[in-house]
Amino acid sequence: MHSNLWIEEKFRDFYGMRYKVENVLFSGKSEFQTVDVVETKGHGKMLLNDGLVMVTERDEFVYHDMIAHVPLFVHPNPKKVLVIGGGDGGTAREVIRHESVEKCVMVEIDKMVVDACLEHIPLTSEKLSDPRIELRIEDGIKYVKETTEKFDVILVDSTDPIGPAQPLFNESFYQDIYNCLTDNGIVVSQGESPWYEQTMQKKLVSIKNKLFEKTFIYNFVNLTYPGSFWSFTFATKGLHPIEDFDAKRVAASGLEFKYYNEQIHSGAFALPTFQKKELEGLIQN
Ligand code: SAM
Repeated sequence: MHSNLWIEEKFRDFYGMRYKVENVLFSGKSEFQTVDVVETKGHGKMLLNDGLVMVTERDEFVYHDMIAHVPLFVHPNPKKVLVIGGGDGGTAREVIRHESVEKCVMVEIDKMVVDACLEHIPLTSEKLSDPRIELRIEDGIKYVKETTEKFDVILVDSTDPIGPAQPLFNESFYQDIYNCLTDNGIVVSQGESPWYEQTMQKKLVSIKNKLFEKTFIYNFVNLTYPGSFWSFTFATKGLHPIEDFDAKRVAASGLEFKYYNEQIHSGAFALPTFQKKELEGLIQN
């Protein structure tokens, strides 16, 4: 028990968020990054990679609902799903809630992240032993280059473009993703902040716009990401995220969500003018 321990997530060199820590549960350094799990006073257990907040128990459902359910309710029959990164297990947990999903391959580069979450954050990691999840500890870049498997939906649940995640923001990676997708496949990627990472957003949507038939961006509000307002990019070989979305499927699924619903699905693709202008010509929103 620490009486006066606070951690600060520094974002660039001008912004920070501070959290009161009750207990440090794990601290390690892998060959890729530092990995910490702490118990916070206001946000439950928290995973940090290289000092950046990845997941907190309090708001993890927002990110995991939005990365998984938006594409899985657009694809008419998603059977095989690939998750790149996502070591905390929250994305794979949501993917396998869809009955149509027969297999979810999760490719995480860092075993330390998975092990730390399995031990300390069961809320996100508890489904990793499900037989439909095939967990592979390897580099996602190498996996998509070499695999002969095809996926209906690919979810890039990555850290920011530093360290091992840097190539996950490059064109050659998305060319390989394109080749791994089935004919009406969808790829969704962690799309950074519309406030602070406009250049990176533009780079990501430009790459997708060049390679894919349709490219979109959608937003969500997460308590613990810098600026709270955050994006996913969404690209397809033809499917449209709203026109091909049958809202009745959500109720028919019988699934309950804490953030996602039929209105949020379509509303998330409505962009503020500053973001729309910045990405003009590159997205079909
Ligand atoms: N929700 C999170 C966030 O804050 O953006 C992302 C969560 S998840 C913990 C991100 C994971 O991507 C990390 O565990 C990291 O090890 C993994 N990762 C980074 N580069 C990777 C790569 N090249 N291949 C596979 N996984 C990678």
